[in-house]
Amino acid sequence: MLSRAACFPEIKSHVDSLPVVDCHDHAAERSRVTDIIAYVVRGYFSSDICAASSDADARFMTDASLPLEKRWPVFEKAWTRTLYTGYGLAARRAMQKVLGVSELTLDTASALQEKLPDFSDPAVYDPFYEEARIVARIANLWPAHKKILDGSWQLLPGQRIVIGLPAFHNFRNRADIQGFEESMDRTVTSLDDFLRLCRDIFSAYKAYGAVAFKDQSAYQRTLAYRNPPRSDAEAVFNRILADPRYSAEFDPDGSPLSDFLMHEFMRMARDMDLPVQIHTGHMAGIRNDVAKTNAAGLRSLLEIHRDVRFDLFHANWPYSGDLLFLVKNYPNVCADFCWANIIDPVYCRNMLVQAVSSVPHGKIHGFGSDVGGNQPDVAWAHCVIAKENISCALADLVDMDYISVDDAKRIASDWLFNNPNAFFRLGLKA
Ligand SMILES: [Zn+2]
Repeated sequence: MLSRAACFPEIKSHVDSLPVVDCHDHAAERSRVTDIIAYVVRGYFSSDICAASSDADARFMTDASLPLEKRWPVFEKAWTRTLYTGYGLAARRAMQKVLGVSELTLDTASALQEKLPDFSDPAVYDPFYEEARIVARIANLWPAHKKILDGSWQLLPGQRIVIGLPAFHNFRNRADIQGFEESMDRTVTSLDDFLRLCRDIFSAYKAYGAVAFKDQSAYQRTLAYRNPPRSDAEAVFNRILADPRYSAEFDPDGSPLSDFLMHEFMRMARDMDLPVQIHTGHMAGIRNDVAKTNAAGLRSLLEIHRDVRFDLFHANWPYSGDLLFLVKNYPNVCADFCWANIIDPVYCRNMLVQAVSSVPHGKIHGFGSDVGGNQPDVAWAHCVIAKENISCALADLVDMDYISVDDAKRIASDWLFNNPNAFFRLGLKA
């Protein structure tokens, strides 16, 4: 995306020169893709492909055990219907970078498949991040807790791990907490025991180098956490402990146990002086309920835990106004544009313009790749698109005489590097 503003080239070249903090990354290990359709339809783009076809078609086209010729017509129909979404744009930019083409035909697909790079090789994988100038990656991974406790988990270059919260509070039966017990060689016999166990695991993560907590329970439940009395939560927990066959009923409006534990974990975040990243807005996949993920639902959690620093994700797509309200309204709330820059590039460009005029620019985190270890090229493409969105938004503001070119450069440096570097206390040198 480009801007017709005369200052755009100068701002864009400044933005391209900046070091970038990737505020959200899921790459647990480098891995390769060998099928050309699976390569194109990796990660989040599969959701658009599925929305443009069907679950059955999406499964069929990526089933590498079937001949490419048989799968091709099903893929081609969906691909040509979804080329122009942000995900489609990122997929085509990545393809252009890696294979030298942004279009695919059955005639070229087989030959291109042979050219797919081996992303499991550090010499192939790492340069994508280096070229994007990504100097740190806030990593949301799912390691065996034991590997964090004994320090044997290996991070990729630049990664700083976060503590994933959902499994610690969004559970329903005895088996769900067994892994935590085994990792610490302890048996949980009460809610107090469980809270102690959680605190000890979180402390081990912090000792390992964790820089934040992260919660994406919005995939399963509403973000509108209530504040139930401890006795309500304890009643559910005791029932789970007493009978391994018991499973608490699923309720998308949350449960007293999940609600209570979330508040307890916010107190731990405060005591451990770690910020909390929360998934809001758009979800990967299809057929979810977007209303329950609006960041506006977090109001009472943000209100109660005033000493906790919150980083609200994904620009709360499509509820931009509600997120800007929260950032403007609460000193402890920042907005994070991770993933959003390819969910909807035009939404981000518009929202970034509005953000400058509505909320302190020091409370915006501009980029997070949000991809796994087989997508370094998509992370690179995503970063290129985020830099374009930011450059366009700031050039538009200069063009309307709202800010100067120097202001634009300062804001861009803060959004991509200085703000997250300070917020997550990464200690990186500018
Ligand atoms: Zn994510």
